Amino acid sequence: MTKAVFYAPDPRTHTAMARTLGLDPRTQVQTPLFESVGNTGTAQALMMLTAALEEAKPRDRMLLANYGNGAEAFILEVTEFINKLKDRRSLKNYLKSKLALPSYEKYFHFRGIITTEPPRRPQLGSSAPVVWRDREAICRFHGVRCQNCGTVQFPPGKVCINCQTKEQFDKLRLSDKKAEIFSFTIDNVFPSPDAPTVLAIINFEGGGRMNCHLTDRDLNTVKVGMPVEMTFCRIHTAAGFYNYFWKARPVRRECLLIPNRHCEEHSEKAILRDCNAEFTLSCVTFFATLRMTEREGLAV
Ligand SMILES: [Zn+2]
Repeated sequence: MTKAVFYAPDPRTHTAMARTLGLDPRTQVQTPLFESVGNTGTAQALMMLTAALEEAKPRDRMLLANYGNGAEAFILEVTEFINKLKDRRSLKNYLKSKLALPSYEKYFHFRGIITTEPPRRPQLGSSAPVVWRDREAICRFHGVRCQNCGTVQFPPGKVCINCQTKEQFDKLRLSDKKAEIFSFTIDNVFPSPDAPTVLAIINFEGGGRMNCHLTDRDLNTVKVGMPVEMTFCRIHTAAGFYNYFWKARPVRRECLLIPNRHCEEHSEKAILRDCNAEFTLSCVTFFATLRMTEREGLAV
């Protein structure tokens, strides 16, 4: 067996289990991620399996064992399709681009363990009818493109803001579009577990502009022109109802890409810089190939 992946509640127990099983903890056991991620409970074994597969070679054999209310174990054999997974978003790259919370105080706020006096502003409400009526914009994050002049607008409206054509739009998904910060402000009063709140006006590649919160950001690096991507977040809770919407965050997507990988069609135009760097040039074919590879990989 090449690698054993199994859950334990802490590093000491994990090492003891490896010894009991007669495995070499340095070579045959997948690192349990306690030092880099912590204990994620139910997700731990599968995250470890993901990490193990990132290093796996064809014909490797893996033990996956987990327990909770019962126990289960699998022996998996890696096939040659694993080679197609090399460039997809990986645990390793997510860890490389993670942000550490600056203090325990911040962690307590995120978890709701300590609460502070709320701002003296009207309480935010919840409305199921609004969420249902505007589901195209709120959940699917669809904007519209004018059929007459091509102007992209969000939120979707009835009349084109550019040519005033009425109700002649195509839907346009914005959730996977790249964008950049056009302007931003920092609000110290808006209720947020990660105060102060950064409110940004962003411009989407290919057109469209919106006003949104910026999350997962380092206040010292936020600047006009910064590339951002969209992420679906819980905005607030009111009347026992979770309200979700889209926020922008500094781009993590580059971390998926192997530096200097080429698009066959556009060759050097598609060279991308290293992790966390900005895009030098985008290449449609390159991303299409990457997505196709991901899909094939996921089907393995
Ligand atoms: Zn128009």
